[in-house]
Order: sequence, then C-alpha cells, then structure tokens
Amino acid sequence: MLTAALKQAGQRLSRLDRTLIMMVVLLTSVFPVELFPNAPPPPKGIDGQYSGRQGQVLLVKVHVAEEATDVKGTFLDRTIPFFREVRPGEPAGYLGLVGIDMQDAPGTYELAVTVKNGEQQAKRLSYHVLVTKEKFAVEHLKLPKDKVDLDDKTLARWKMEQDQVRQALADNSALRLWHSGFIEPVNGKRTGIFGSVRIMNGQPRNPHNGEDIGAPLGTDVAVTNDGVVRLTVDHVFSGRGVFVDHGLGFYSMYFHLSEILVKDGDLVKAGQIIGKVGASGRATGPHLHWGVRLNGARVNPYGLLDLPFSSRSGPDALPVKQQ
Ligand SMILES: [Zn+2]
Repeated sequence: MLTAALKQAGQRLSRLDRTLIMMVVLLTSVFPVELFPNAPPPPKGIDGQYSGRQGQVLLVKVHVAEEATDVKGTFLDRTIPFFREVRPGEPAGYLGLVGIDMQDAPGTYELAVTVKNGEQQAKRLSYHVLVTKEKFAVEHLKLPKDKVDLDDKTLARWKMEQDQVRQALADNSALRLWHSGFIEPVNGKRTGIFGSVRIMNGQPRNPHNGEDIGAPLGTDVAVTNDGVVRLTVDHVFSGRGVFVDHGLGFYSMYFHLSEILVKDGDLVKAGQIIGKVGASGRATGPHLHWGVRLNGARVNPYGLLDLPFSSRSGPDALPVKQQ
C-alpha cells in the first residue's frame, strides 16, 4: 500500500524528491523505531539495553577500563552503586545489581550511570531498561479475624516495628560485603508466591514481598551470602526475623524463625546457619519467608541464585568471625 502510494505520488515528484522518499523508506527499514511516532524512544546515544520482568534482578555491566573513584546509577529514583569486577578473559568494568520492584509499572525506563574519576569531568552513560509484566498469582487466605484486623495496641506496635525496619534499612554498608555465589537458605518446598496478591478474609492486602519455603520446624536457615546482621526482631507479623546487610543497598531477610542464632552486628559468611525454621508471627505453619531488597526494590530472592557469580570466595572476601 505504501509503495503504491509512493508510486502515484512519484509521478508528480521530481527526481530529487523521489530519491529523498526512497531514502526515508530505506531508513525506516533500517531504523524502524526512529521514524514511527508511537514507537518507544529511539536507541540513539544509548549505551545498552536491558529487559526484565517485575521482581527480577538485572546484572548490569559498565565497561570502564580505568579504575574510577565512583560509579553510580539511577533507576526509577533508586541509587544503584556499582562495584569493580575484573574477570579473567573479560574486559574490565563495573557491575551493578539493578532490582526491578515487583510493583514497578511495565515500560521503558532509563538507567543513568555516572562514572567519576577524581577531578576529571564525570562520564555519563545511559541504558534503557524495559520492564515487563510478571504474572503474579492471586492468593486467598483465611485467618482468624483477630489476626487480620488489628486492635489499636497491635496497630501501634506494628507501626513502631515498621519504623524500626525502615531506620535499620536506611543505613547500609558502603562496601560490598559479598564475593561469591548466592545460596538458597533452606532446601524446602518453594511455594512460588513471590509478588502474589493476597486477599485476606476477602480484603486485598499488600502483595507478598518474598518467597515462602516450606520446611519442618527447626530446619537450619543459612544466610544467602556474606554480610553483617543489621537487625534481629520479634515482630507481630514477621515473627522472629533477621535482616542481613550485604552492602551497597542489598538486604536479605529471614522471617517466622523459631530460633535466632545471631545477634545485631555479627559478621556472617555465606551458608552460615543464622536461625531455625519456625512459625512465629503471622504464619499458618512452619516455613521460611525469604525476602530481598535491592536499593529499595522488592525482588524475587530466587533471582539471585541465577546470577553468574562463582561459589568460590574472592581473595578479598570478608574474614569469617570465629564463634
Ligand atoms: Zn511470606
């Protein structure tokens, strides 16, 4: 149809015009995105493109040969610190873990990265990140009324606990504390309900921000990677819980424990047993609730296990605290 229209128009056009139209047609086929008004923004001047589903973790590599003093990214108002990674046979660069929150709206967003090197003019890189929709389950739960509708006293306690967690998570190690692959904390039955919409006694609640792993009461819970215990709690909803700071805005959390085997400030090594599976807090049975936050984004913890980091610890790994 387009060709026919061009042919018809071509009869009235000069040779120059026809050449121009042909160029446009050719360009359209080479850069289809740029010439259609409803298409996503052009990839012109873009340093790379990534895509991921809601709740997924993206490993972004910035190729910078020289050692920079600071490499930082911004994605959807979240700050993403990058760390230097030199791997044999690969060009030197910086890596960043970009978390797509389970509720980030699908669309294309910019990940802007600034590379600072002392007094030199900072270099700015721009990446496109396409966020796609994840199909989350809808979960219907029936719980005793007094466990769902909080009385004033419990509500006040819950608010205080929320503040306590917020404060603890606002403060994170500026150093990357982990250097190896990630470990599944419990070899149990994955329920696959990360991100699921919860309807409790008919009322919609916040989506489930972690993964539940069913395991017998008292099963060992291992920490997914090296870090420092930032907070241990006994909260109304999450029960006995441990929050581990892995540095650079990356936190992992373990809830509903029957026992906590670490204390605030402890250094932990990947695989170290930090507690036991339980049903404390609001839980229908013994299981581990495993959650991960990456610079504020609630991501599926199982996404970490797929990241290409070797299980061998690096030479500058965190020293083990002898207990
Ligand atoms: Zn849970």
